[in-house]
Amino acid sequence: MTKKCRSCRIDIDAKARICPNCRTDQRNWFVRHPVAASILVLIIFGLIGMVIVGMNSGSSNQVQTYSGGGGNSFIQEHMGHALQHLRL
Ligand SMILES: [Zn+2]
Repeated sequence: MTKKCRSCRIDIDAKARICPNCRTDQRNWFVRHPVAASILVLIIFGLIGMVIVGMNSGSSNQVQTYSGGGGNSFIQEHMGHALQHLRL
């Protein structure tokens, strides 16, 4: 049983770890670099977690902005009344 080389595409033994022609390592990157792969997975999950937290904080900011806007309109309403009193 044979497989194609990852680099030069010649037929090599399916169990061969290194191509006899070009010396390219045929094993999966994750198998060759288990530590780097696990760190990469942690970074990806960390980024996904940051995005989820960012989305949650963004929605809470929208709520704060909305309530703040309500407060501003409340102040503007009372300021309007005060200005009307000043005009009278
Ligand atoms: Zn090769």
